[in-house]
Amino acid sequence: MSLLCDTRLPAIQLVTVCKSYPSAAGSVPVLRDVSLLLQKQALTAVMGPSGSGKTTLLNCAAGLDQPDSGKVILGATDLATCSERELTVIRRQRVGFVFQQFNLLPMLTAYENVALPLRLQRGRVPRNLVTEALRQVGLEDKARQRPAQLSGGQQQRVAIARTLVGEPEIVFADEPTGSLDRRSGRQIMGLLRDTVDRAGRTVAMVTHDPVAAAYADRVVFLSDGRVVGQLDHPTADKVAQQLSMWDQ
Ligand code: ADP
Ligand code: MG
Repeated sequence: MSLLCDTRLPAIQLVTVCKSYPSAAGSVPVLRDVSLLLQKQALTAVMGPSGSGKTTLLNCAAGLDQPDSGKVILGATDLATCSERELTVIRRQRVGFVFQQFNLLPMLTAYENVALPLRLQRGRVPRNLVTEALRQVGLEDKARQRPAQLSGGQQQRVAIARTLVGEPEIVFADEPTGSLDRRSGRQIMGLLRDTVDRAGRTVAMVTHDPVAAAYADRVVFLSDGRVVGQLDHPTADKVAQQLSMWDQ
């Protein structure tokens, strides 16, 4: 059973976050007063129509992008008080990313892809850490394969291993099943669920798929840059029902 205990410090807190981008027609608001708690050791799904600000929200929460106003607090760290150098350390060591297109380096083997962040972080890479990360995603026998020799689902599992090996406080996944067939998508969701339940990690993910969202502890609905709803202990049916409400 996963924990959604409100008395502990959340993994991330967003407080009235606003963000706009410039456009030819003037400044366009993308996040409007977004306040949100992402609980530790929980899987939170963010849903909403294309262009509703989901990726911007994740990027602001992870310190990759900066809000125009409002606060992002990672653990006990207010990101607005961090220097560029401190933010770089946070991006490398405290948060991890999983992308829709996997973003593996094609010239490197699965093993080398997983080892890369550790190599950049620490220089020497303990072999057992990499092997263990590959084992956790069920790919220890694919260590020598290059991405092109792996299926989409296997590539995403390598990408997850690459993220987990750095032991981030929070894993952000932007549509991690968006390029996968249904079966591989379920496998990826099972893995993300396991990293919360067994490894005690925190995951925030964007998805369009109500079945994927049903793996979450909580679903947050965004529409036009605003949080318009939340659903705890979601089922695919309840999620689909909520989505049809916001789509109208
Ligand atoms: P979502 O992930 O929900 O599809 P995004 O957060 O990617 O939405 O984008 C929300 C809005 O912000 C879109 O209208 C998009 O065009 C705009 N946007 C996102 N990133 C930038 C950027 N770097 N520069 C200008 N506009 C951007
Ligand atoms: Mg997006």
